[in-house]
Amino acid sequence: MAGSGGIRVCFWGVRGSTPCAGEQYARYGGNSSCVVLDVDGQAPIVFDLGTGLRPYGESIGGAARPYRGTMLLTHMHWDHIQGLPFFTPLQHPDSLVNVYGPRQGNTDLGDVFGGMMQPPYFPITPAHLAGDIRWHSLDDDDLPIGEAKVRARYVRHVGATLGYRVEWNGGVVVYISDHGQGCGEPDCDDYVPQEVLELCDGADLVIHDAQHAPDEFEAKRAWGHCTNEYALLVAHTARAKQLALFHHCPSHGDDMIDSMLRSTQQISANTGGPDVIAAAEGLVVMVGGTQ
Ligand SMILES: [Zn+2]
Ligand SMILES: [Zn+2]
Repeated sequence: MAGSGGIRVCFWGVRGSTPCAGEQYARYGGNSSCVVLDVDGQAPIVFDLGTGLRPYGESIGGAARPYRGTMLLTHMHWDHIQGLPFFTPLQHPDSLVNVYGPRQGNTDLGDVFGGMMQPPYFPITPAHLAGDIRWHSLDDDDLPIGEAKVRARYVRHVGATLGYRVEWNGGVVVYISDHGQGCGEPDCDDYVPQEVLELCDGADLVIHDAQHAPDEFEAKRAWGHCTNEYALLVAHTARAKQLALFHHCPSHGDDMIDSMLRSTQQISANTGGPDVIAAAEGLVVMVGGTQ
């Protein structure tokens, strides 16, 4: 990888709503949302702090070594934050994590998180971690993080939720984990908001909510998620190169995800792209650069 440019994208948690375990999840995995971007010689950028954050922390040495990195949090739902208390690198006193996430009215983002990480919900508070967590509120912002260009835009979900675009080292990765079609105004199901196109425009890889199969959607419309076919519409409209179906429903075992993947690939092949994959725990994708 050295000298080739691009971004190494590693999927540590691909499940939506709640982590789950069992034979039916063996291939795609049961940890909730967490994706890590790495570029040689630079601090990592992490999308979301779901339970996939725990094995990521273990893989880089746990509490044995200091960690410096940026975490881009989409929203405060459990499946996106529950990994942070178990991110053992924060047990090292020299660790420092900058967490960016959607503004929570007049309340500090860290205080909102602290409301969940305290007794009686959890035995310790963030202050008990030896490392330092710094919280930063975002709106529709464009900002540099190290050498990366980061764009945040609000997307349609239940509660304040951001999607992210990261342009870094010759690659462009977009992360829209939770996004509901037909939710908000205008509410037609095939409408792709301008903010979403600003995130996805020409991206190398779009990681997108694909929680529901089309025949499940109507009953779950209010959940703020979308179908695999809407995820494809977003990526196709934005002329993205590759789509990763993400935030798999806990009621979908591996075979169901295979079937949704095949059907999405078929529609995409008939309509002019993009390439489609289904995110799986442990999957590594190189984007941008010369591979
Ligand atoms: Zn979610
Ligand atoms: Zn959510």
